Amino acid sequence: MGRAAFLPTLSILCLCAACGSCDRLESSSGPAPDFGPAEGVPTIRVALRRNAESVTLAIEGPYTITDGDASRMLSQGAFLARDEVTYKSGKFSLTPIRTRHLIITPKINGSIVVGDKHYRGVLHLWGAREKDKDGKYTPLDRLSAVNHVNLEHYLASVVPAEMKMSWPEAALQAQAVAARTYALWRMEQVAKGNRTWDLTSGADSQVYAGLDRETEKSRKIIIDTAGTVLLFKDLNDKEPSIFPAYYHSTCGGDTADAHVVFGGREMPCLTSVTCAYCTDSPVYEWTFALSQNDLAEIIKKAGGKDIGKIVEIECIGPEAAQRPRQVILKGSELQVRFSIGDFRRAVGTRRMKSSFFTIEKTGDYFKITGHGWGHGVGMCQWGAAGMAAEPFCFSAQEILQHYYQGAQLQRLY
Ligand SMILES: [Zn+2]
Repeated sequence: MGRAAFLPTLSILCLCAACGSCDRLESSSGPAPDFGPAEGVPTIRVALRRNAESVTLAIEGPYTITDGDASRMLSQGAFLARDEVTYKSGKFSLTPIRTRHLIITPKINGSIVVGDKHYRGVLHLWGAREKDKDGKYTPLDRLSAVNHVNLEHYLASVVPAEMKMSWPEAALQAQAVAARTYALWRMEQVAKGNRTWDLTSGADSQVYAGLDRETEKSRKIIIDTAGTVLLFKDLNDKEPSIFPAYYHSTCGGDTADAHVVFGGREMPCLTSVTCAYCTDSPVYEWTFALSQNDLAEIIKKAGGKDIGKIVEIECIGPEAAQRPRQVILKGSELQVRFSIGDFRRAVGTRRMKSSFFTIEKTGDYFKITGHGWGHGVGMCQWGAAGMAAEPFCFSAQEILQHYYQGAQLQRLY
């Protein structure tokens, strides 16, 4: 790999409409700083709460509430005092009107507070419902809160939540591009159905903690990479397209093939690559031991079967030497087969940090030695930091093209 600069199309100049406001500090009385491209930025819908009994909500400034289905203004106010919003018998506690969809639009960007966090954009509340066998919907006393937010503003919160901001800028830029690509891919997938949100705000999607998590540096990283995504063209594809640019904490030496971990078709841009850059990660290698009895208890709890004293564990799959797909636990009474995901969940994913492990039996104990943390697919975040740091000093483009082989970078807006 050469040492080319980041994309020539990327500008290090601030593109925001009112440059200078980027330096302003956030306050609960003023708007959040605007930044990023003025046009063409999609709005992403992030589920902050799903099917909750109540949502703690405040608006720190003027706002309107409209009926999401009829687009009628229902109420407005100078501020909304902190309250537990509920949905009961088809009505939100905020309004006497019967509806399952409310839109709360603040006049000041960043003045929505859900729980203890501030959010930009607009908040949609959805009442839960269930469909009976005749296809008739009945409201349930639960609600979801979905933040509709400019994708670039969303990413300025995701990057610091997903990566250490003290890491080199090239690693942070690579993280921004991967997170943008993943978000757009999810939006494309969801657009095929009728779901009311694209992503959640937790680690099962990408961690998003709203305005409070943004920093001046994270906004700069988003401006530097504005609108830039990864695209991949497979042999049978006419045009390059967005793909799920997965990433994870630490691969432990080799990343994993997406089709081995998640199933589906093989994708050359998500195949295993060697990573010699994540050795500084505290979870590069880990080990723990489980007694035969402890493991038997774990398996009994997870599978509901008493298989007796566990005498052998066999790892199976095409990559059994590294990332097995399944394990067979052979007990004195019975044997059971677990998918690797179920086995990790049964043992505990904090202990069993990845599927990159070997098991060795020593006396009454099984010693499990593993590498890395996470599913292992796509960009290794600690590896990206290692590639961006001395002595390598690779660019964001080089980092991305190492972990997503054959992918191209393109600015969409
Ligand atoms: Zn790695």
